[in-house]
Amino acid sequence: MPKRRRAARSRTSSGAFRTSRNSAVLGIDLGATKVATALVNADGRLATPADRRLHANDGPEGVIATVVAAARACLATARAGRVRIGVSVAAQVDPETGEVVYAPNLRWRNVALGSRLAQELQGTVTLINDARAATLAEWQLGAGIGASDLFCVSLGTGVGGSAVVGGRLLDGGGHAAGEIGHLTIVSGGRRCHCPNTGCLEAYVGGWAIADRAQQAVREDPASGAPMLDRAGRVEAISAETVFVAYRGGDPLATRLVRETERYLGDGAVSIANAFNPSRIVLVGGLTVGLPGLDAVARGAIRARCQPPAAGAEVVLGRLGEFAALVGAATAARSSPER
Ligand SMILES: [Zn+2]
Repeated sequence: MPKRRRAARSRTSSGAFRTSRNSAVLGIDLGATKVATALVNADGRLATPADRRLHANDGPEGVIATVVAAARACLATARAGRVRIGVSVAAQVDPETGEVVYAPNLRWRNVALGSRLAQELQGTVTLINDARAATLAEWQLGAGIGASDLFCVSLGTGVGGSAVVGGRLLDGGGHAAGEIGHLTIVSGGRRCHCPNTGCLEAYVGGWAIADRAQQAVREDPASGAPMLDRAGRVEAISAETVFVAYRGGDPLATRLVRETERYLGDGAVSIANAFNPSRIVLVGGLTVGLPGLDAVARGAIRARCQPPAAGAEVVLGRLGEFAALVGAATAARSSPER
């Protein structure tokens, strides 16, 4: 039936959903404020337009309801039967039990997300930490292709990371190896959302940039006036407010960005020395808001790492904002059927 064969090929080449069983993998990326959902092809391309929506971060019940609604909307467009579902979460997760063990930015502890979603969506669910998911995606499908020693740093609302060493994605006793966001860079420094203080995330995470900016504006209202005008009130000043003001040449925003770059440089030097990756991949919203962070990390590594680590390449991710979503689908595709 040549006509039908042509039609099937055309759907595939246009990136539309493919109905073969192997293609029906739903990727979900659950962050501190957002959830993104799409069906993902084996080559990492989105097979359906991404469903992006905000959630209220109002506890597990409300957030899970938003995730389920988004996933159902996505599955409805594909008319898929039982599917594999990969969920990346900004959290420490246990992929064996499907439990979110600890999610500081969602303020969750021990939430049985995997079994809830499996029940609601009638699918097989694989949970993965968001930074690990982005690492898996960039390593297998993006900027990390060909590297057997790789570190991926995820710079968003929070800061995460994950390492590929000798061609293996490191796991860790609690499935949290490479959580570089909680590396102490300032002893006794700013309070983090984790139990520690002075973490890299407490300086360069999106929430921390907002906190630092709000504090700077309160301490120096004259210099802070342009950012305050833009945001309306101090509490509404976000990392994005800082980036926009910085691009407009605002002196206080410029100071905040230079400090952020210095902290990121400190983190990059520690990552390169500790893991000795041949390639470091930077992903996440911060790399979009502040272009040039790859050059900042590269410069710090060249200048301050010991020789075996100083040659690490630093590149930006290629999969953009959906790296974690694609990585979650990739993890689900390769996980055993349960
Ligand atoms: Zn921390």
